[in-house]
Amino acid sequence: MSFFAVENLSVRFGGIRAVDDVSFAVEQGEVFTIIGPNGAGKTTIFNLISRIYEPTGGRILFQGVDITHLPAHAVTQRGIARTFQNIELFANATVLQNLLLGRHTHRSTTLFEEVLFLPSVRRAERAHRRKVEEVIDFLDLQAHRDSLIAGLPYGVRKVVELARALCTEPKLLLLDEPSSGLNVEETEDMVFWIRDIKRLLGITVIMVEHDMSLVSKVSDRVLALNYGKPIALGAPGEVQRHPEVVRAYLGE
Ligand code: ATP
Repeated sequence: MSFFAVENLSVRFGGIRAVDDVSFAVEQGEVFTIIGPNGAGKTTIFNLISRIYEPTGGRILFQGVDITHLPAHAVTQRGIARTFQNIELFANATVLQNLLLGRHTHRSTTLFEEVLFLPSVRRAERAHRRKVEEVIDFLDLQAHRDSLIAGLPYGVRKVVELARALCTEPKLLLLDEPSSGLNVEETEDMVFWIRDIKRLLGITVIMVEHDMSLVSKVSDRVLALNYGKPIALGAPGEVQRHPEVVRAYLGE
C-alpha cells in the first residue's frame, strides 16, 4: 500500500480533458514534484486532491483510505494541507491570527465549552498557541508575528502561507508553485524550508513547480504532464532530459 496514490484520475471541463487518466503513487517522506507546460493540468490535480473539484473518474487514496469523495474539511482533518499559487491569507489580520486560524481543524472543544471558557478550552487554547509558536520559530517568522499580512513583502507572505499549512500538522503537504513571485534569494530560502520540512518534520510533499533549479534541488521524483496526461516519471534530471518533456516545453 502506498502512502498516497491517485488511480486513473480524470476530470473534464466541457470538451477539455484537464486531467486524463492519471495514476501515480507517492511514498512516505518523499518530495514528489509535478511539472509540465502551462495548462498541463497540474493545479487541477491539486484541486481534485483537496476536493475543490469533483473527479469524473478514478480514485484518490491516502494511507489506504479512499478519500475521492470526502468533503474538503475531512481531507484536511485526515492530514492533507495545501498552499495556493496566489497566496490566500487574511490581509487585515496579523501573522499570528492567520496561523491560529490554521489551527481550527484541530478544535475539539464545543461551542458551549468555549462560551463558558472552561479549563478544557483554556488548555486547548494554550496547546494551539504552543504549536503556532513552534511553527513561527521553525520558519524564522518571529520578527513578523504581530505584523498585518497586508504590510508584509510578498516573499514573507509566501512563508506565512507555508506556516499556516504547517500549523494544521499535515502528514502530506501540497505546495502549489512555492517559488512563484520570489526572487533568487527567497527561492534559495524556499529550498531550505522544503528540505527541512521533509528532513526535520518528516512531512511528505507533493509540489507543483516551474523553477527547474528548485525542482532538481528538492525533489526525489518528478512526474511530467502534458495535456492532462503523464509523459515521464523518474529522477529530476532524467525527466527534464526526457525527449517528450523537452518537446512539450517547446510546444511541439
Ligand atoms: P499553469 O502552469 O499555467 O498553472 P496547470 O498545469 O496548472 O497550468 P491547470 O490550471 O490545471 O493547468 O489547467 C488545465 C486545463 O484545465 C487548462 O486547459 C485549463 O484552462 C482547464 N481548466 C482548469 N480549471 C478549469 C475550470 N474550472 N473550468 C474550465 N476549465 C478549467
